Amino acid sequence: MPFHGLPGRLSEIRDRIEAARARGGHGQDVRIVAVTKTHGPDAVAAAAACGLGDVGENKVQEALDKMAAVTVPVRWHLIGHLQRNKAKAATRFALVHGLDSVRLADALARAATEAGTVLDVLVQVNVSGEASKSGVAPAEVAPLAAHLATLPALRVRGAMTMAPYDAPEGVLRACFAGTRAARATLVAEGHEHAQALSMGMSGDYEIAVEEGATLVRLGTILFGTRGE
Ligand SMILES: *Cc1c(COP(=O)(O)O)cnc(C)c1O
Repeated sequence: MPFHGLPGRLSEIRDRIEAARARGGHGQDVRIVAVTKTHGPDAVAAAAACGLGDVGENKVQEALDKMAAVTVPVRWHLIGHLQRNKAKAATRFALVHGLDSVRLADALARAATEAGTVLDVLVQVNVSGEASKSGVAPAEVAPLAAHLATLPALRVRGAMTMAPYDAPEGVLRACFAGTRAARATLVAEGHEHAQALSMGMSGDYEIAVEEGATLVRLGTILFGTRGE
């Protein structure tokens, strides 16, 4: 049976999150987004059976296929880089984590308006400045936030980041703290619902929670290696 060790692993992860939350002292609630990319619909079912109601996918088409095959009710998070021509499909998600430009914001707002909904989004921040990563530079957060304030079809729920892979702890902390600062900028620009901090993956979620993460995106430690 696939994913048979999931309940035990999840229980340990929840303990670790709780300990990190206490150490960090930010007092936030933390939710796990189960990253099911490359796995089949059975991974979503296994997650839901353990009480994980939030599922993350990084590719739109793969997510849509899985949505069609999954019968349990879960909240679908789009966690990967999003191209403007996929904006319409993005309205199928409960939360879009990768908003990283004015042009994408405009495309998403248009799609949400056409769909008759308000779309929840997170502003992705590239704190470390790695060229390989999406996200706006910290200095671009305020101008993007000002533009987003003109788009009522989008509701800014907070900030998201991907930390450099395998970086030293100090680099990770700076990245997460910078994302926390970006969230403060969003709030200061009038986005009162910008309370979420989506940061932390299998390798760095404890540090992320210490730094205030409210959503940790976990794949490998829940479902095993992906063989990508
Ligand atoms: C794949 C992915 C994750 C999960 O990564 P793991 O290291 O397997 O936990 C988290 N966030 C994003 C954006 C991803 O693409």
